[in-house]
Amino acid sequence: MIQSVKPELVFIASEMYPFSKSGGLADVLGVLPLTLSRMGIPVAVITPLYGRLSTSAYPLRLVCENCPVGYPWPTISADIYQADYQGIPVYFIDRGEFFDRRHYYCTAKNDYFDNCERFIFFCRAALSAIQRLDFPVSVVHVHDWHAALATAFVYFWRQHDSFWADVKTVMTIHNLAFQGRFSNRLFWNSGLPDEAWNMDGVEFYDSFNLLKGGIAYADRITTVSPTYAQEIVTPRFGCGLEGILAKRKDALVGVLNGVDYSVWSPGQDTFLEQTYDLDDLSGKAICKKALIREMRLAPNLENRPILGFIGRLRGQKGIDLLLDIIPALMREDVGVVVLGEGKPAHEARLLDLMEKYPGCLCAHVGYTEELAHQIQAGTDIFLMPSRYEPCGLTQLYSLRYGTPPVATAVGGLKDTIVSYPLPGTTGFTFAESTPAIFLQCVKKALTAWENKALWKKIQTNGMRADFSWNKSAQRYLELYADLGLKK
Ligand code: ADP
Repeated sequence: MIQSVKPELVFIASEMYPFSKSGGLADVLGVLPLTLSRMGIPVAVITPLYGRLSTSAYPLRLVCENCPVGYPWPTISADIYQADYQGIPVYFIDRGEFFDRRHYYCTAKNDYFDNCERFIFFCRAALSAIQRLDFPVSVVHVHDWHAALATAFVYFWRQHDSFWADVKTVMTIHNLAFQGRFSNRLFWNSGLPDEAWNMDGVEFYDSFNLLKGGIAYADRITTVSPTYAQEIVTPRFGCGLEGILAKRKDALVGVLNGVDYSVWSPGQDTFLEQTYDLDDLSGKAICKKALIREMRLAPNLENRPILGFIGRLRGQKGIDLLLDIIPALMREDVGVVVLGEGKPAHEARLLDLMEKYPGCLCAHVGYTEELAHQIQAGTDIFLMPSRYEPCGLTQLYSLRYGTPPVATAVGGLKDTIVSYPLPGTTGFTFAESTPAIFLQCVKKALTAWENKALWKKIQTNGMRADFSWNKSAQRYLELYADLGLKK
């Protein structure tokens, strides 16, 4: 049953699991609003109606036809559809020419040429829907650059429009590297007042920076782990925005992402050949056998460690570091499984290496939810050599699946992994993103794997760790309450 009260807290985001997903952002949107709703907050989510949307299980209802958006010039409108997702209303912005495409943001080669218009349109349509549907909204919580500019519109509109007068905004940065930077000429058509065009506003070295707009005008800024919140005010991790972030430091806080354990638990995972849990890990060995079969790994690897990697094949995730150490890993007589898609050069190198090491290195270039679960369960060690990591969800999943991670000690990885040999070890972290140091750390994990009792302890420590959303949702609740949201 959908919540009967109108939403006071509205999320605006470009992805939401299970409707759309290209990464962790979608996972967060799939669970945080639900958790808050269960805590008694009337909440709604607004997201685009993409052509590639998985809505078959959730019938859509048209709730506002031709909702005027006021952007671009001449003004066009959006149709607003609504679905019920486990009791919370999800609103979809429909405008075929912007969202009915094969991909969300880009083709394999390029970003869509009109991303600036598409996502300003999305922000403005979302705000129009809130007003049209007359939500008693107190807080608008936006995510990443696609939704960031909604904070700027609210900031300026509340100065003269009584509907927005008491509305506050929260902006969450899931990844500072993606900023939505466009030509300055697109600013002049955005509908923001001229005064927003300055170095404390949306201007970034003469370009129009949507994420910067969010940082400048949101009432509160959050990012997805405490360590990343500290890192992004420094030049090493700030991606050029460290200045404005440092200026807004008092409004910035890091709240760790959580896990939706109803989706990511080996004890109830329907994608697995055999479920298992903390008390009985025997199902994990069956999942390993199934993965060996599925990925065509050499059968003898059943008795050797298999290392897994799932993620975007990008420099951020350190895929190049992994590819660099593949020959050395192969000498250790281990299996490596990679699931991901991304930069064509990394994909090509991965496939070349796969030909060189048949049965030992197996990769699936593409995106498949099912295989992601099977790799989490069927591997022994999870690899995450990220150069930076705002939070990272895959290591949290791997902990729950009894697959200790080997990861760089950055951002959320630092906050969530207890590194060997500390008491309560759950994984292995290393300080510097170089192939040699990464390899050294993997070797440390391989040595620990040989000691069955030690390994079981590390696995069970990780499986016991609790990264459920309740604690983090409570932090968000405090933040909203600070901004006037009543519970
Ligand atoms: P990101 O920086 O990409 O958001 P996270 O670790 O926070 O990284 O979240 C990644 C999410 O996307 C996880 O749910 C992971 O399982 C999923 N994922 C990434 N790549 C793939 C893929 N190729 N196939 C299936 N799932 C994937």
